[in-house]
Amino acid sequence: MLTIGAFAKACRLSPKALRLYDELDLLPPAKVDPDTGYRYYAVEQLERARLVAWLRRIGMPLARIREVCALDAAAAAREVRAYWARVEAETAQRRDLAGFLADHLTSVARRDPPVLELRYAARSDPGRVRPANQDTAYAGTRLLAVADGYGPAGLPAGSAAVEALKCLDAEDVSAGDVLNLLEEAARDATEAVAEAAGSGTTLTALLWTGSRLALVHIGDSRAYLLREGGLFRITHDHTLVQSLIDEGRLTPEEARSHPQRALLLKALGTTAPDLRLHEARPGDRYLLCSDGLSSVVAEDDIRRALASAAGPEAAVHTLIAAANTAGGPDNVSCAVADLVTADGHPPHPT
Ligand code: MG
Repeated sequence: MLTIGAFAKACRLSPKALRLYDELDLLPPAKVDPDTGYRYYAVEQLERARLVAWLRRIGMPLARIREVCALDAAAAAREVRAYWARVEAETAQRRDLAGFLADHLTSVARRDPPVLELRYAARSDPGRVRPANQDTAYAGTRLLAVADGYGPAGLPAGSAAVEALKCLDAEDVSAGDVLNLLEEAARDATEAVAEAAGSGTTLTALLWTGSRLALVHIGDSRAYLLREGGLFRITHDHTLVQSLIDEGRLTPEEARSHPQRALLLKALGTTAPDLRLHEARPGDRYLLCSDGLSSVVAEDDIRRALASAAGPEAAVHTLIAAANTAGGPDNVSCAVADLVTADGHPPHPT
């Protein structure tokens, strides 16, 4: 038996921490002297104590540590990896948030006239099968947004989310307000769906900060970039089939006919959207679309339509027509924007 002092030294936890872990039932001593109250630890407990110490060092919360300690080594290893993946994802999101805030503060401080600006168009169409349109599409001088609502309150959810973002189109939004407005969009959409179970909305939006694009995204609406003739998808679907593709259990071809291809893993109203920064270049053409386009028009056809359209208006028109030619099974929404210099150059190559 080791005294608490000797045990603490051997496992590099402080006596104070050991007393706390005893109270939490995470690492109870092998014996407590009934007269003095002194705690004694068995040598065999060192391994667990050292594991606890390491898990604390990587910042794992105590409740989670208790769960990990109850697992066998292989399962514990999986838990540690999963925990760390989550920490990195959260850190990445905070890093982007910090960059976004710094960008915005810089542009507010400089008050330079914008060097680059957006030329834009947006349209939403019910398609050929659905009785109503639950999609919302918007394009303005700084904001592009597409929301695809579902369930009985799908339309109010989607339009509330986009509506909340629209104030970001105003010229003089302060940095603090930008972040509040993003949060507000999530909150308004949540409120819009609160009373109708089974309703929600996707939200994919691009906000021009004056030097970069902030990408707000949740669900399976998509953002694409056409740059130098190549089409790049810059969002990741929050769907079951995308997660199966990521795990290598499904090919993109199989996903197209998967019976649960429309199943969302995340939507606005349940979780806050992802926020990322995207480096933009003059000449870039961006497309936001609902799955009514991407599920029926092949990416190569989207690329061709985007590359050949003279401007955003023509691109939106062609893409919606393509979805309807393919049967128009769902509502279809597109927002397209070109990033150009203030005098309109470079014009998009046709
Ligand atoms: Mg849809």
